[in-house]
Amino acid sequence: MKGAIVQVTSACNLRCNSCQTYLSKPEFLKWDREWLRDLRKQGFWYLSLTGGEPTLHPDIVKMLQAMKELGFITHTATNGTNPEKIKEMTEYLDAISISLDDYMPDAHNQFRGRKIFAEAVESARYVKGKTKIATVNMLVTEDNAERVLQMAEFTNSEIGLPLSLCFPDNASYVFNKNFSVSHKKIQTAFQVAYSNYRKYVFGNTREYYRQCVEYLSGNKVSRCRAGEAIFYIDVKGKLNACFKHEKPPRNCNECFIQCFREPSLFNPLAHMGVFVRSYLKGKKPV
Ligand code: SF4
Ligand code: SF4
Repeated sequence: MKGAIVQVTSACNLRCNSCQTYLSKPEFLKWDREWLRDLRKQGFWYLSLTGGEPTLHPDIVKMLQAMKELGFITHTATNGTNPEKIKEMTEYLDAISISLDDYMPDAHNQFRGRKIFAEAVESARYVKGKTKIATVNMLVTEDNAERVLQMAEFTNSEIGLPLSLCFPDNASYVFNKNFSVSHKKIQTAFQVAYSNYRKYVFGNTREYYRQCVEYLSGNKVSRCRAGEAIFYIDVKGKLNACFKHEKPPRNCNECFIQCFREPSLFNPLAHMGVFVRSYLKGKKPV
């Protein structure tokens, strides 16, 4: 059983500080049922649709519907700026992540390059309970790294969703090479999430947070599964090991991007912990 991150488009309606997607020509994945059937035959069971901004693909709802009909588990990561499209998509999604980097509107808007905080929060509130798993995804930056607890409080209490942390790693081809976050700040953010895992509902496994801290300290962590359990399909439909490598170098340890490291990707039942803890805390299931 394998999973793939699928870039359905390189088009995006934002210009986030961390990203250079906008530099590439906007392209849209060409797909059909045969192509999806072939992925099933190759053993793929989990598809995570990403971009650019996936909601901009003109066929996104039809594509998701076909994926569900063929038995895939579906996920998308969106910037939340297209709430109407997201409403149509949720019928065919098992999981969704909405990007929100800060609980302070100005900070989020400034980082994302447009006033989108209200739309993103609206989308996040809408998806609560509509898919099996829904999370708010916070990219850790130099600026927000020390506000993880406030963000967890905001997403859990004001939105009702778990908070996931996105490891800022320029191994991803879309990363703006001028955007950097110090290891100290990244460690602070992930250590705080690890230490407060029982106090708030987080969307990653605790083991992922622990390993992020260890990774930055140069300690041993579990090996990357890119090209083995998790793959990356680019906007041209080409199958790669990850964002960076067509075929992974042996024992590659060049990045810690959650797409290829989060332990629950290899064991979807690990996410049950998030459900159980949210019930125990008397919060609405997510
Ligand atoms: S980070 Fe995502 S939302 Fe922001 S510009 Fe890049 S693709 Fe668009
Ligand atoms: S560690 Fe994994 S995801 Fe990162 S560059 Fe190497 S093979 Fe790719």
